[in-house]
Amino acid sequence: MNRCKWPSLENNPIYVEYHDNEWGVPSYDDRHLFKMLILESFHCGLSWLIILKKREAFKLAFDDFDPKKIMEYNEDKINELLSNKDIVRNKSKILAAISNAKAFLKVKKEFGSFKNYIWSFTNDKIIFGDGINFQTTNALSDQVSKDLKKRGFKFMGSVTTYSYLEAIGVMNNHMKECFRFHKSK
Ligand SMILES: [Zn+2]
Repeated sequence: MNRCKWPSLENNPIYVEYHDNEWGVPSYDDRHLFKMLILESFHCGLSWLIILKKREAFKLAFDDFDPKKIMEYNEDKINELLSNKDIVRNKSKILAAISNAKAFLKVKKEFGSFKNYIWSFTNDKIIFGDGINFQTTNALSDQVSKDLKKRGFKFMGSVTTYSYLEAIGVMNNHMKECFRFHKSK
């Protein structure tokens, strides 16, 4: 089976599983969209494989990615997270998760769902790449990142936003030789 030629993909079953079944599959579920946004904000500066391996620990530490709970985190909870060896212990990113939970719920209130908001940038369309040329940012990620920042989201620069949009299937960038190329389901 031909897959995207990502570094360390083939020798990590957890990564293969993610590539084959999750990456680029369009998500319309707010909890999943929030979970991926939090994981991507922690991804910033690290490899995705590191985040993937810690995903279950993140889920446990961050109340199953419930934004209502996360937005209420106090100093005690922040200290507890900072002493949790199984997640990424970065205070700015932990504080960003709290800001992002608040911003997420605000967007949800304004648009009815975060899904409505994030898919509005492409008029509900999936943007398929050509499978040959790859970027780390584009006009879409610049635009979404700018809007996210305006709404109070943190650690969602254009590179992270690009990665997020790929993860949730707004952009689909499997390589041409990959068996998932131009497949969204
Ligand atoms: Zn692929």
